[in-house]
Amino acid sequence: MATLDDAPEGAPARGGKVLVKSYGCQMNVYDATRMADLLGREGYAETAEEADADLVILNTCHIREKAAEKIYSELGKLALEKRAREAQGREMKIVVAGCVAQAEGEQVLKRQRAVDLVVGPQSYHRLPDLLQQARHGRRLTDTEFAVEDKFDALPQPSRAQIRARGVSAFVTVQEGCDKFCSFCVVPYTRGAEVSRPVADVLAETQRLVEAGVREITLIGQNVNAYRGADDEGRDWSLARLLAEMGQIEGIDRLRYTTSHPVDMAQDLIDVHESIEKLMPYVHLPVQSGSDRVLKAMNRKHTAADYLDIIARLRKARPDMALSSDFIVGFPGETDEDFEDTMALARAVGFASSFSFKYSPRPGTPGAERDDQIDEEVKRARLAALQALLEEQRQAFNAATVSKTVDVLFEKPGRHEGQIAGKSPYMQAVHVSGAADRVGRVARVEIVAAGSNSLAGRLMDEGEEAKA
Ligand code: SF4
Repeated sequence: MATLDDAPEGAPARGGKVLVKSYGCQMNVYDATRMADLLGREGYAETAEEADADLVILNTCHIREKAAEKIYSELGKLALEKRAREAQGREMKIVVAGCVAQAEGEQVLKRQRAVDLVVGPQSYHRLPDLLQQARHGRRLTDTEFAVEDKFDALPQPSRAQIRARGVSAFVTVQEGCDKFCSFCVVPYTRGAEVSRPVADVLAETQRLVEAGVREITLIGQNVNAYRGADDEGRDWSLARLLAEMGQIEGIDRLRYTTSHPVDMAQDLIDVHESIEKLMPYVHLPVQSGSDRVLKAMNRKHTAADYLDIIARLRKARPDMALSSDFIVGFPGETDEDFEDTMALARAVGFASSFSFKYSPRPGTPGAERDDQIDEEVKRARLAALQALLEEQRQAFNAATVSKTVDVLFEKPGRHEGQIAGKSPYMQAVHVSGAADRVGRVARVEIVAAGSNSLAGRLMDEGEEAKA
């Protein structure tokens, strides 16, 4: 597989400057990084400034109506910028990638004339060729499903690119979804569940670790549905893959996201006890606490099933922290159903959560229902749930004060002499310390909890001063 290791650091941009703006989930963040890697190989330099970019890629999310509409409003602004540049004889290309591209395809080209190229999540490895065609004035759409091809053709970053991105990295192991929750477009935009072969995952991980990465998060739409084949054609579960990765020298931390309750197998729960490097934090979306609503959502689990999984996770790792996704106001949700959701949240006590009002997505069964919930009711329920979840998040952070936790330092802090990192429970932590600690794990006593981060003190500071 071609790599960028020969490309000199800071080489001039042969292809111009590219801005990749990502929306939505971590899969999109990962895809955006891979697109930047691929274009880096073509001589493009990354920029964070729209004004500098010759090529702007919007890597879009279609999960909520609002998210899709935001893309069209962003495209409207980019169209104005493109016209202004063209008036000065300068070029600007606009690409729409991700799930809006997949779901709406040619509609995007019709709705916004300034868009040059629409490319789906399974086709972006063909970007250089597609851009070449767009350069010759063709406006085109490429949204074919070919996930296996995509895994084969995933562009690999150079060591310089890996180092620039820090000590924590994502590795995609699975794409797509077979679950068909009745509110969700993902099975239609990302296709069926496909797992990446074991050898490819291990090779990418090894490469990241050699370039200085210390924390790997395995990602997939349904990451715990992972069934990747090994060289002998045997399928590995996510638990087996994590156990293998736990042996890799140089990895300090392992995580995985996003999981579905029905795929939370006992072997995966068990590895939380046996693999020390596997962090005690799991994102496990429940969406609702009402069995009636869960059934209507086609979630294939009950509230009791979910609570049972949480109990087993906590048995395996008593300090396990949980986060979740919630949707309020699904069609037909009654006050009683909503109270069940509040009761489930109270029963678990989440460290962090994402919660949204239901918004109908065209083409999904939920959107067809005629018992949609009034906006005002949804707003009130969401406010009540978010107040509870925020209270739980603050309580979780406050409970960390006076405790000692391991922190993986990721970058300099906002203030001089400060460094910042993450606790095992995904909390942002900052301490006074030297920048050469970035990339290492250290014991930290948490001394205060702010609204979004924790302040700590390095436990070995005194010993270092004495040495
Ligand atoms: S599990 Fe449900 S919510 Fe998650 S991606 Fe699949 S259909 Fe969407």
